[in-house]
Amino acid sequence: MQIAERCVASFHYTLTDDAGTVIDSSEGREPLAYLHGAGNIVPGLEKAMTGRSAGDQFKVTVAPEEGYGLRNEQLIQSVPREAFQGVDNIEPGMRFQAQTQNGPINVEVKEVAEATVTIDGNHPLAGQALHFDVTIADVREASDEEMSHGHVHGVGGAH
Ligand code: ZN
Repeated sequence: MQIAERCVASFHYTLTDDAGTVIDSSEGREPLAYLHGAGNIVPGLEKAMTGRSAGDQFKVTVAPEEGYGLRNEQLIQSVPREAFQGVDNIEPGMRFQAQTQNGPINVEVKEVAEATVTIDGNHPLAGQALHFDVTIADVREASDEEMSHGHVHGVGGAH
């Protein structure tokens, strides 16, 4: 069976950056399952999956535009320290969920000054090329329930 719309595919992957450093990997875990065509994975990887079958192994480089997007400097902001009430030690590298007009976003603390904290709302992988090494583990037909939910149920899936 080939990966197409209405398919659930599961795969093992290793994700590396331009320098060859491993960012993420499914090694030692269940393969990642996703509903093809539902935007569960980054667009560039989803495209590269089309037509593959169980056992296929391939490498693909995904440009930022088809990965986690380009970096947006407007998402780097200075906020008053009072915004972090209840947090004793604010340190660069800490991650928080911030409420915005467009819903919650994950932000990373970049800099801590006396009165302000600089936060970055970009995805950690924004602006980066993603190098995937993929092995397809399984391809099956999606259930009606999975189609209506837009994600995978069962092993490696949601719920
Ligand atoms: Zn569901």
